[in-house]
Amino acid sequence: MPQSSSPYRPALGVEETGIRRAAVIGAGAMGAGIAAQFANAGLAVDLLDVPGKAGGRNAPAEAGIARQLKSHGFMAEEGAALLRAGNIEDDLHRLAEADWIVEAVVENLEIKRSLYAKIDAVRRPGTIVSSNTSTIPRRELVAAGGDRFAADFVITHFFNPPRVMRLVEIVAGPENSDDLVRRVANATRSLLGKSAVMCRDTPGFIANRIGCYWLAAGVLEAARLGLTVEEADAVNAALGVPRTGVFGLMDLIGIDLVPAIWGSLMQAVPAGDRFRRFDLPGSPLIGSLIAEGRHGRKTGQGFYRKGKEGRREALDLVSGAYRPAAAVASKDLPGGGRDVAALLADEGRLGVYAASLFSEVLAYAAACGPEIAEDVGSIDAAIELGYSWREGPFRMADRIGLQVPAVERLSSEAGPSPLLAAAAQKGFYSQDGALLTGGDGRTASASPSLLAGDAQIIGNAGARLRDLGDGIACFEITSKMNSFAPEVFDILEDTLARAGRDFQGLVLGNDDRRAFSAGADLSSILKLLDGGDELSLEDYLARGQRLFLGMKYLPVPVVAAVHGFTLGGGCEFMLHADASVAHAELNAGLPETKVGLIPGWGGGTQLLLRGLEGADGERPPAVLAAVFDLIRSGAVASSARQAMRLGLLRKGDGITMHREDLLPAAKAKALSLVSGYAPPPKAALPAFEPSACGGLLVPVAEGVAAGRLTETDETIAAVLAFVLTGGKAAESGESLTEEGMMALERQAFLKLVSLPASRARMEHMLKTGKPLRN
Ligand code: NAD
Repeated sequence: MPQSSSPYRPALGVEETGIRRAAVIGAGAMGAGIAAQFANAGLAVDLLDVPGKAGGRNAPAEAGIARQLKSHGFMAEEGAALLRAGNIEDDLHRLAEADWIVEAVVENLEIKRSLYAKIDAVRRPGTIVSSNTSTIPRRELVAAGGDRFAADFVITHFFNPPRVMRLVEIVAGPENSDDLVRRVANATRSLLGKSAVMCRDTPGFIANRIGCYWLAAGVLEAARLGLTVEEADAVNAALGVPRTGVFGLMDLIGIDLVPAIWGSLMQAVPAGDRFRRFDLPGSPLIGSLIAEGRHGRKTGQGFYRKGKEGRREALDLVSGAYRPAAAVASKDLPGGGRDVAALLADEGRLGVYAASLFSEVLAYAAACGPEIAEDVGSIDAAIELGYSWREGPFRMADRIGLQVPAVERLSSEAGPSPLLAAAAQKGFYSQDGALLTGGDGRTASASPSLLAGDAQIIGNAGARLRDLGDGIACFEITSKMNSFAPEVFDILEDTLARAGRDFQGLVLGNDDRRAFSAGADLSSILKLLDGGDELSLEDYLARGQRLFLGMKYLPVPVVAAVHGFTLGGGCEFMLHADASVAHAELNAGLPETKVGLIPGWGGGTQLLLRGLEGADGERPPAVLAAVFDLIRSGAVASSARQAMRLGLLRKGDGITMHREDLLPAAKAKALSLVSGYAPPPKAALPAFEPSACGGLLVPVAEGVAAGRLTETDETIAAVLAFVLTGGKAAESGESLTEEGMMALERQAFLKLVSLPASRARMEHMLKTGKPLRN
C-alpha cells in the first residue's frame, strides 16, 4: 500500500525517523495494539499472524484489527485502513518492505527463535527487528541467529494497552551500534509517542522487576500486619499509586498468573536477591485463590468481587470469605491522604504498613539499581510510566526525605548501599540531573522542558507570559484545569499589548499533564450570575470575546499547542489561533450544550468561518449544518485525528505523537510563520437563507418526537440555530461582521444561562461530573 493512500498525513517528526513502513508479527493484545499505534502516527503497517483455520487465511490478523477497533486502539477508525492483514506462510515476503519489524508472538523462546530465522531470510539488511518479550533475555533471543541479525535486534517492551501506556523499555546489546539504538529510541518517541527507557538485559527489565516486588511486598505485608484489602489499597493510593492499589491490580493482572510471572522472576534474579523474600507463588493465600478459581476480574472474583445486587465485596484475608467492601476514605488515613511524611511516621497499623512498603521498594530499587539501569531517573520513569505511580521511589524519597526509620533500618540490614549513601549527600536528583546508579555521586544529564527556565515576562496567580527564546513567547494558563479565571484575562490583555514589542510570535501552551484548558469555570459562571462578584457575567463574556478576537488579528503569528482537555472556552481560544500543533491524545470540543449553554467566546463564529474558508457557494448550507450538529451534540473528539475530522483542527495543523515534543513543535511552527507575517483579512459571515434556521431544527424536532432529545435540548438548539444563521440579519439578507455575530452569541448565552433548566444542568455537572438529561 503506497503511503499516499493514507487517510492521515504522518505525524510531525515521523519522516525524520527513517521509518516509512512497519511490520508487526503476532496480532494478539500487544501486536495488534502496537500496529494500531503505528497507524495512529500515519504509517502503513503489515500485521501478520498464523494462518487461519476457518474464516480465511488472514482471519487471526483480521480479528486482531477488529479487537483494536472495538477497544479504541485506533485514534480514528480510518486508521485501520493503514493496516494490511496477512499471515506468516503466505505473506512473509512483505517484511522486505518494512523498515522496522516488531515481533509480538507468544512468550516462547523456541517459537520466537524459529520466527527470527524466517524474518532474517527476507528482511533487508539494516531493518530494525525488535521483540516485545516481557521476560526472555535479549542474549537468549539472539543466541541462535547470526551476527548481522543480532546487530539489528533489540527488545522494545511495550505496556498494555499500547496506545495508552507511555512506557517502552529498550534493551540493547553489545552487537548494536549507537546509531541503531538511537534510531530505535527516536522512532519510539517521535513515531509511537512513547518514552523510551534504556534498560540492562536483566530479568523483568526495570518496571516489572520493581513493580512485581512492590506487588508481592504489598500483598504479603498487608496480610502480615493484619490490614484489610481496602485499607491496603487506600494506603497505596495515598502513596501515589493508582486507586486500584495492590489488590485491585492483582485482580486485574490475574492471580492465576502469579506462578508464571513471579515464579519465573524469582528463578531468574541473582542469588541472594531480595526478590525472594516475598514469596508470592509460595503463599498459601495465593495458592488457595488459584485452586478455587478465584483468579480476579477474569473469573468474576479475586480479592474483590461484585456481590448480590452489584455491591462490591472484599476478601477477608484471614477467613477467605467475602464480606461487603468498606471503602477507606483518604481523609481518614494518617496524614489525611495528602501528607505522605505524616502517614509514614504514624505508628498505627496503616502507618507501619506504609513505611514498610515504601522503604522495601526504595531499598530494593537502590540495591538492584546498578544491575538494571544507568541512572535513578530511568527507574523512576519506568515506574511512573509503566505502573502509573505519581512519583517513582527515588523522586518520592527526595520529596519526603530519607530519614524514614524503616529505610535506615533496611539499609543497615541489607548492607551499605552506595546509592543511598550518595543520595544522603544531595538527594537522588539535583540541578545537575539524576544520580547514576553506580553510587559515586555522578549524575546523568537532564533535558528540561522549554518552560522549565525562569524566563517570566509577566504573570499573576492565573497565567503568565514566558520567553521561549528566539523572539517567541508562551502564554501559559496556570489556574485549576487551566480554566479562564477572570485574572487570566488580565495577563492575556497585557500579552496582546506586548505583541511585536516583546515577542514576534506567540505560543499558547503549558506543561500541564491533563489540560490545555477546560474553558470557563462553571462555578465562576454561577457566581458571576448570582452577582457574587463585582464583575458582571456579561462583562466577563464580552472581555473574553474582545481578547480572543484581538488575538486573532495581532500583528504576530499565534500557534496553539493543544493537548488533553481542550474544551469549551479552551477550544474557542484555540480556534482564534493562526495554527495549532496538537498532541495526538487530544480531547477537544464544544460541549456547552451539555450544561445548558452555547459557546460564548466566538466558537460558533470561528468554526463557521473555518468551514467556509474557500467555500464555493454550494457548501455554505452543508458547513452550517455540520457546525450546528457539532455544537448541538456537544461532541468531543477523543484524539487529534478525530478533531481534524470534526473541523476543530485544520488539515494543515501538525500532530505530535509525544507530549513533550508539543511545545518545541509549536515554537518551531511560530518561528516558521514570523517572516512576512500579516494578520488574516477581516472576515465576514455570509447571509444564510431566512429558511436556514428552521431547516436546522427539523431533525431536532424529530429527535424530540422520538424521545432521543428533550425539550431543553430543543430550546438550546433553537437559540443556537438562530445565532449561527445570523439572527435577525438573516431576514434582511445582510452579512454579519465577526463582532456582530459574537454579540449574538453573547446575548444567546445570557438568555440560556438564566433558564432554570440550564442552571439545573450546570449544578448537576458541578456536583456529579456528568451531564443531566432534562
Ligand atoms: P497474545 O496471546 O494475545 O497474542 C499472541 C499472538 O501471537 C496470537 O495472535 C498468536 O496467534 C500469535 N502467534 C503465535 N505464534 C505465532 C507465530 N509463530 N507467528 C505469528 N503469530 C504467532 O499475546 P500478547 O499478550 O499479545 O503477548 C505477545 C508478546 O508480548 C509476548 O512476548 C508477551 O510476553 C509480550 N507482552 C505482553 C504484555 C501483555 O500485557 N499482554 C505486555 C508486555 C509484553
